[in-house]
Amino acid sequence: MRIIFIGAPGTGKGTQATLTANEYNIPNVSAGDILRHTILKNDTFSKKIKNIIDQGQLVDDEFISSLIKQRLEQKDCHTGFLLDGFPRTLSQANFMKQWKIKIDYVIEFTASLQTIIERIKGRRIHLKSGRIYHIKFKPPKIEGIDDFTGQQLDIRTDDTEDNIKKRILEYQKMTIPLIEYYKKEQITGNVNFLTINADNSTLEINKKLKNALNT
Ligand code: AMP
Repeated sequence: MRIIFIGAPGTGKGTQATLTANEYNIPNVSAGDILRHTILKNDTFSKKIKNIIDQGQLVDDEFISSLIKQRLEQKDCHTGFLLDGFPRTLSQANFMKQWKIKIDYVIEFTASLQTIIERIKGRRIHLKSGRIYHIKFKPPKIEGIDDFTGQQLDIRTDDTEDNIKKRILEYQKMTIPLIEYYKKEQITGNVNFLTINADNSTLEINKKLKNALNT
């Protein structure tokens, strides 16, 4: 099973990606997590990338595409994967087309601005694993602490209120052509494209997703 998740920040696609990857026993390849690991190096290049992310902008298409390509070439991805947050632009989708990997499903997550802001404001992350928590909807057992490692949770440096709106606008601008592209791919039978409204609870969204993937 090869699945792509597309969605604005805060639509809960990262949470659903973890659940779905577990359900299908496939690696969860998150573009954001790969970038956050890359910038832990703290060299000049990493600082440049961190700056772009912190400003709510997208990193260069060629750069992220090469990181994703390297990841998908690893053995565990050969029989399937879940790609969360890539491609995010038409240009990235075109890079991917050149890799000639058959994608089964492209799922777009949509949610209202109110939902998005509430989700992002309460989001906490365990940077090393990419585990996502929410202070209200999915609190850790001990406040501020990852359930599995006992390490500290962080607030993503790009999760500020100012940034959220900027990221949503950037998302809409870049994603409209991408969605059009996948709708055409659906018509030509290359992929199954589905939109899921993600305003509900994690459980309800997961139920809708399971139905969608089993049809
Ligand atoms: P995410 O964890 O998916 O919300 O991504 C966090 C940030 O990483 C985004 O706001 C972008 O700055 C960057 N990023 C993630 N995926 C991509 C991508 N496919 N193309 C460009 N930038 C990306």
